[in-house]
Amino acid sequence: MSPATVLPPPLFLASHPALDFLNTYATPDGVAVEWIGDGAAFFRWLEAAGHLRAGDGERISRRNGTAAADTLAGDARTLREQLRSALRAGATARADRALISALNDWLAEGSAFARLQAEDGLVRLTVQERADAPRQLLVPLALAAARLLTEEDLGRVRVCEGPVCSLWFLDRTKSGTRRFCSAETCGNRAKVAAFRARARRRAISAPK
Ligand SMILES: [Zn+2]
Repeated sequence: MSPATVLPPPLFLASHPALDFLNTYATPDGVAVEWIGDGAAFFRWLEAAGHLRAGDGERISRRNGTAAADTLAGDARTLREQLRSALRAGATARADRALISALNDWLAEGSAFARLQAEDGLVRLTVQERADAPRQLLVPLALAAARLLTEEDLGRVRVCEGPVCSLWFLDRTKSGTRRFCSAETCGNRAKVAAFRARARRRAISAPK
């Protein structure tokens, strides 16, 4: 069976693209899932995340070979884990010279170009990364990580409190009280667990 048929759909619930990237390795239901285990899987994820246009991954694989794509997926996993361990340290991630140096190496691969896009009678100016060489595919991820470090409050970068969950997110709520990757899944699970715990306590303390 190819990995495409066994991987669950990728998750984009982190409220920041750099943290969605971290969530390409996670244990959403207590079972570890690696979404970028090889080049083909990495390209599928980049397309799903909107970092790569549909079909570009296949084109790049054809031109450069699957070995180059697999190497790139390995580079992406290395960068991802470097970012993860830096963020575990909170705001001091900004002082992580090894991370900054790695991000600068990837950012240097970039060659963005501006483009006018006509849409519904309006014209918008957008900036796009080229996706010609495989190494350029990591530029949007390095840029997202660089933006997280420079533009966001790292005190609001959190790991879901769900007991079997390991997903990261940026708390963008006004009150700063987001605790779960998703209120529907982990939030509900936590509510049910708390309800059961209360019920158990009541059953224990109730007179016989
Ligand atoms: Zn969760």
